[in-house]
Amino acid sequence: MDKYNASAVTRAPLDRLGRPLRDLRLSVTDRCNFRCTYCMPREVFGPDHAFLPKSDILSFEELSRLARIFVALGVEKVRLTGGEPLLRRELPVLISQLSAIDGLRDIAMTTNGSALVQFAKPLHAAGLRRLTVSLDALDDGIFRAMNDVDFPVHRVLAGIDAAVVAGFAPLKINMVVKRSVNEDQIIPMARRFRGPEFILRFIEYMDVGNTNGWRMDDVVSAREIISRLQGVFPVDPVAPNYPGEVARRYRHRDGGEIGVIASVTQPFCRGCTRARISADGHFYTCLFASEGHDLRALLRSGMRDEGITQSIRAIWQGRGDRYSELRSAATILQPKAEMSVLGG
Ligand code: SAM
Ligand code: SF4
Ligand code: SF4
Repeated sequence: MDKYNASAVTRAPLDRLGRPLRDLRLSVTDRCNFRCTYCMPREVFGPDHAFLPKSDILSFEELSRLARIFVALGVEKVRLTGGEPLLRRELPVLISQLSAIDGLRDIAMTTNGSALVQFAKPLHAAGLRRLTVSLDALDDGIFRAMNDVDFPVHRVLAGIDAAVVAGFAPLKINMVVKRSVNEDQIIPMARRFRGPEFILRFIEYMDVGNTNGWRMDDVVSAREIISRLQGVFPVDPVAPNYPGEVARRYRHRDGGEIGVIASVTQPFCRGCTRARISADGHFYTCLFASEGHDLRALLRSGMRDEGITQSIRAIWQGRGDRYSELRSAATILQPKAEMSVLGG
């Protein structure tokens, strides 16, 4: 069933491949308290790394204004991300501002879960209804090695419990699977997050940015993940919730859902309807783009909403991105923005 209403789809501009603008990801900070080896390797994001100065980051008012403009163009779903969004001070205030936007039906957030014990309740009270927590392992040693800041897994698990108690259900759990690093966690994670309150999603390790040393050999394919699961917990495929859904869905025979995001081995560019705004207000039309379009300059130039709307429309209409369908040894080396900068 298409969860987008017909008027929004008619209003939304189409890109060069006929894809409507439907989803918006707002990065609220480029900073993070983790140094996940596949995202912000500490050799690159070390103590000397220059993060964005505060003045370069969009204010809550600028973020809400942009969201309003995108919603007027047909977007119905906004996801907050980063860096780690909960490092942004007073984030529930932004959620309240977004909740007040007419026509915005769905506000979601992706977090590493490290601060959820403190924030789960205030986020829910402010109007956030959908939450995704990234968690790559249940084994404490593996988890600490992957976040590379020695963060204990029990604190994320406590955050997940707090989120369920606060009313986030079902809660999505994202697990990036990396060969020889956490592949032995697939089954324990499936066991732990099997109930109706969770949707566990396995994500193929991607070549985002240029710093994580990505190699195809490190990718555990969706097909392999599912076949490993089938041996222990039989699952059956389920139809997508809506066109363009990135996760392929499966259901445990005894209830509960899982998903796999096969961006490397089964690309889904054809259905990709996502716009991304980096913390410094650049508009990226693809996760693998090297550069974004500077909307912050427009926001701060005194331009009226109509002018900004026109610019966004024109950028979207010129979009032809389909990186994952064209991935090759050559594309992997292309300059790309880092995930922590443009928002995962
Ligand atoms: N810090 C938050 C978090 O980790 O949930 C939000 C931002 S993070 C960039 C968003 C998502 O991107 C996380 O689920 C993370 O696991 C995923 N991610 C980061 N680097 C990745 C990579 N190289 N391949 C696949 N997924 C990746
Ligand atoms: Fe931080 Fe999220 Fe990237 Fe990990 S994946 S380093 S938690 S932004
Ligand atoms: Fe969308 Fe780019 Fe990913 Fe393809 S590679 S699905 S166009 S973000």
